[in-house]
Amino acid sequence: MRKAILILSLLLLALLPAALAEAGQASPLIMVGLWSNQTSIVLSSADGFSLADAETSGILGSYKAKEKVTVTFSSSGIAVNGQPVTARKLVAVLPPKAGAAIEVNRRQYRGSVSIHRTAGKNGLTVVNTLPLEEYLYGIIAREISPAWPAEAVKAQAVAARTYALHSLGKHRSDGYDVCATTDCQVYGGKTAEDARATKAVDETRGLVVTHKGKPIPAYFHGSGGGFTENSENVWGGHHPALRGVADFDQNSSHFRWEKQLTQKELEAALESAGIRIGSLQSIEISPLTKPPVKAFDRGVSGRIKELRFVGSSGSTVVSGAKLRTILGLNSTLFDIKVTLPAEKSVQFEITDSYGDRDLKTVPINVKPLPGKADKPNIRSISGRANETIVFTGYGWGHGIGLSQWGAKAMAEKAPAGDTAYFREILKHYYTGVEISKLY
Ligand SMILES: [Zn+2]
Repeated sequence: MRKAILILSLLLLALLPAALAEAGQASPLIMVGLWSNQTSIVLSSADGFSLADAETSGILGSYKAKEKVTVTFSSSGIAVNGQPVTARKLVAVLPPKAGAAIEVNRRQYRGSVSIHRTAGKNGLTVVNTLPLEEYLYGIIAREISPAWPAEAVKAQAVAARTYALHSLGKHRSDGYDVCATTDCQVYGGKTAEDARATKAVDETRGLVVTHKGKPIPAYFHGSGGGFTENSENVWGGHHPALRGVADFDQNSSHFRWEKQLTQKELEAALESAGIRIGSLQSIEISPLTKPPVKAFDRGVSGRIKELRFVGSSGSTVVSGAKLRTILGLNSTLFDIKVTLPAEKSVQFEITDSYGDRDLKTVPINVKPLPGKADKPNIRSISGRANETIVFTGYGWGHGIGLSQWGAKAMAEKAPAGDTAYFREILKHYYTGVEISKLY
């Protein structure tokens, strides 16, 4: 008997750590707002499903495999297949089967899906509730190419997990944590999953970027354009982990960009944003130099904090972020030049080294007229025909935190077989951080 108890005790002791670890390994749940203010939603499932009242758990209807069910907004609340129901919130219940998914508007989702009236609107909100790790399966391939080196995809997975944790409750007043667009992170459900992205999530399960023990707002962007930016120079808040650092995105397809506008086009764009200063005369911005930049109107990477437009009837200061939105620029890391095309050319006869005579055409460049007080930070606009305002810039996105193209370049140079290199990538782009296992 005593021996049996001893064996049982030993067995329990052996099992206990595993059981504790199991309990500690639960991924938190996340509520993702898929759509809001919809008049009609179509649900179905390859395994069949039921619709229940989310408050009473009472089953309102059960549906066969692949049967389509239409949920609509009605003045009295919610209607299912045209019949009004008393429930204020519906939840789709799937049979307990591994891999079962609910289809909403032809897209598949893991976890559960609920529908409630959009607050203050005549429409419906659809919410997908699922473990955070499974949510990540549905976003990684939308945020980065899963065909990129595995260490870059893993760095993205950790950044996305950290960012999601930081965003929990962002849309609480709408009845969910995060939305499914670029405002939070682009989420496409099970339909958007990719085996390589799923592997990156699984291999970094529970890992997050922390600063002094707390998950950071792990912003990421496409391409830093040679240098990333301090957070306060883009949208206000100073965060010690979000500092400008050298980027390795020189091979990015978004490294350098250019946009040309005529004076009329630029004036029209500013006017559509409510900026009315008459005929544009000059733009005041310090010249773009190599980082680290110390100009008052630029951040450490050279990203424009603000610039001044001077017109015939006044002047205005516009933030770099606002101008980026107005003109649809790839980034705020740019310089501006005012140019005129070659208007004239001269032809003259030459005799080449073989003694043949030839006609050579040489353009005469017409430079813009100098402004009243031409200084390096003033780009004068003379108003001559064909004058072009050229924006030459670098990078793609806000430039804070992880640069995806830079992560790719770092991963390509990672030591062969180093499956922990994603930590180096994260520690480069986030300053003074640790990679911590949350669960
Ligand atoms: Zn959002």
